[in-house]
Amino acid sequence: MYQPCLATEIIPSATPDEESDWRWQFSNRIKGLSALSKLLRLTPSETGLYRDLISEYRYAVTPYYLSLIDWSDPNDPIRRQCIPDPREITFSLPGSEKDPLAEQIHMPVPGLIHRYPDRVLAMVTNTCATYCRHCNRKRTWKNPEAGNTRDALGHMVDYVASNSHIREVIVSGGDPLTMNPGLLDEFLGSMEAIPHVEVLRIGTRIPVVLPMRITDDLCQMLARHRPLWVNTHFNHPREITPESTKACERLLKVGIPVSNQTVLLKGINDSPEVMRALFCGLEKIMVRPYYLFHCDAVKGTDHFRTDIRKGIEIMERLWGEIGGLCIPNFVVDLPTGGGKAPMMPSYLLNIDRDEAVFRTYEGKIVRYSCPGGADTPP
Ligand SMILES: *Cc1c(COP(=O)(O)O)cnc(C)c1O
Ligand code: SF4
Repeated sequence: MYQPCLATEIIPSATPDEESDWRWQFSNRIKGLSALSKLLRLTPSETGLYRDLISEYRYAVTPYYLSLIDWSDPNDPIRRQCIPDPREITFSLPGSEKDPLAEQIHMPVPGLIHRYPDRVLAMVTNTCATYCRHCNRKRTWKNPEAGNTRDALGHMVDYVASNSHIREVIVSGGDPLTMNPGLLDEFLGSMEAIPHVEVLRIGTRIPVVLPMRITDDLCQMLARHRPLWVNTHFNHPREITPESTKACERLLKVGIPVSNQTVLLKGINDSPEVMRALFCGLEKIMVRPYYLFHCDAVKGTDHFRTDIRKGIEIMERLWGEIGGLCIPNFVVDLPTGGGKAPMMPSYLLNIDRDEAVFRTYEGKIVRYSCPGGADTPP
C-alpha cells in the first residue's frame, strides 16, 4: 500500500493487511519523547526542550500520515503539520491567545458552542488520530472542555432540544470519528430526533490522517443520519493519496457530500501554485473546497500565521484561473467570537447611477450601464 518512509525504525513492521486496518494504525501511532528523539535525532541538550513542548502540546501521528513525509526536506509540508516544533512554545506574536475566538464564553453547556443563532458546534471529544500542530483548539488537548461521556453529550442534546432556533448541529472536537461508533451513532440519532434540527454536519480530519477508518460499516452508520454533511481538512495536495481519495469516495457513495476546510499555513500552502494544485485536486476527487481559513491567533501556532493580505492575494490569483467549484471562501474567524468574516478581492471599482466599473480577472476595465436595473428611479 503506502510507500515506506525513511523513519522505518520508528514505524513497527506490519503486513499489508495490518497497514490497511485502522485499528492497527490507531494503536501504533507514533508518540512520546523517545520516538520523537529517534525521529529527529535529538541531542541530549535538545531533549529537554522537546519534553517541555510535548508536555504542553501532545503529539501523535498515524504511521500512514507519517509515511507521507519526505524526510530529506526539513520543511516538508506534511512534516510541519504533524511533527512538534519548538516554536510552539518559544515563538509568539502580540495578540495571540489560547482561545482567541472566545469559544469558552459562548458555551451554554460544557463543550457546546452557540455563536450563531441557527447552528451550534458540539465538541464531542478531544481525541484526534493525528494532532495538527496548527490546531486552533490545541488548548483542549490537555484540558478537555467536555468529556465524550454519555452524560456530557446528553446535556448538549437537552440544550439543543430546548432551543428551537437551532436547525443545524456541527459535530466537531477533537475528531468525532475517533469516538466509539456506537456512542456517536446514538448522539447523531438523538440530535436528529429533535424536530427543529434539520441538518447534521461532521468536522473530521480522519479521511486525511487515518483514511482506512472510513469503512463501509462506518459509512452505513453515518448514512442513516442524512441529511449529514462531512467537512474534512486537506491542507496540501500531497495529502490527496489513493487512500484519502478512497475514503472520500466511500462517503460520497453513501450520499454524504464531502467539503473541505483548509487553513492557510506559512511555508506549507501559502502560494497560489500549491493552492491551485490543492483545490483542483480536491475537485477531481469530488471534494468541494468550502473555506480557506486565515490561521487564527492561537497561542502555539503563531509561526504558521501569514499576513492576512496573503490569502487575498492568493484568491485574486486563482479567481478566473480555475473554476468556481474549486474556489473556497477565504475567511478570518474574528477574535472575541465575532464569527467568520469573508475576505475577497474586489472586482467592482466604482458604481453610481449610470454605470458600474469592473476590472476583469485579467485586469481589463469593463463598464456596465444602468447598474440599478429596473430599480433605477425614472
Ligand atoms: C465556524 C463555526 C460554525 C459554522 O459556520 P459555517 O459558516 O456555517 O460553516 C458554527 N459555530 C461555530 C462556533 C463556528 O466556529
Ligand atoms: S484534527 Fe482538527 S481538532 Fe484534531 S488536531 Fe487537527 S485541526 Fe485540531
